Amino acid sequence: MYLFLAKEEDTLKLGNSIGELIGPGNVLVLSGDLGAGKTTLTKGIAAALGVGEPVTSPTFSLLNIYNGRYDIAHIDAYRLNNAQEGFDAGLEEYLPGDCVTVVEWPDNIAGLLPQERLAIKISRVEDGRAVEIIPYGSAYTKLLKELEE
Ligand code: ADP
Ligand code: MG
Repeated sequence: MYLFLAKEEDTLKLGNSIGELIGPGNVLVLSGDLGAGKTTLTKGIAAALGVGEPVTSPTFSLLNIYNGRYDIAHIDAYRLNNAQEGFDAGLEEYLPGDCVTVVEWPDNIAGLLPQERLAIKISRVEDGRAVEIIPYGSAYTKLLKELEE
């Protein structure tokens, strides 16, 4: 699925729509350069799940847990060099976990990612963001169909 998001509000809305469809055990991986909108999308997801606290990139802490209708584990693997470092940091507990898991910079811990996941790639384009969403596994294929409706 390909989308064009003209402004920040559209990124938040996409996050809201995804947040309405996901639940515990789901893993979403968000790739894209710095400033692409990965954390903005995560804010939208968290808002849909009723998270009240502010959502910021856990670049230094690696992991934030937000409490909402479902808990969200928000991982930022920017500073990690490989899957082993992610494993040593205890991240496999969330891949998948008993919460919703959102991972920024998933390529840095590729070997630690579950085979079944929803991959969202965001790139800056003139006047906005281009988004490609790729489902891995039948549950995410179904989820994406629901998102398209
Ligand atoms: P990342 O987590 O990928 O580094 P952030 O979400 O922290 O990126 O920052 C993205 C920046 O891009 C923010 O300044 C946000 O306002 C802006 N932004 C998000 N979505 C869009 C969009 N669809 N069009 C234009 N700007 C956007
Ligand atoms: Mg970020």
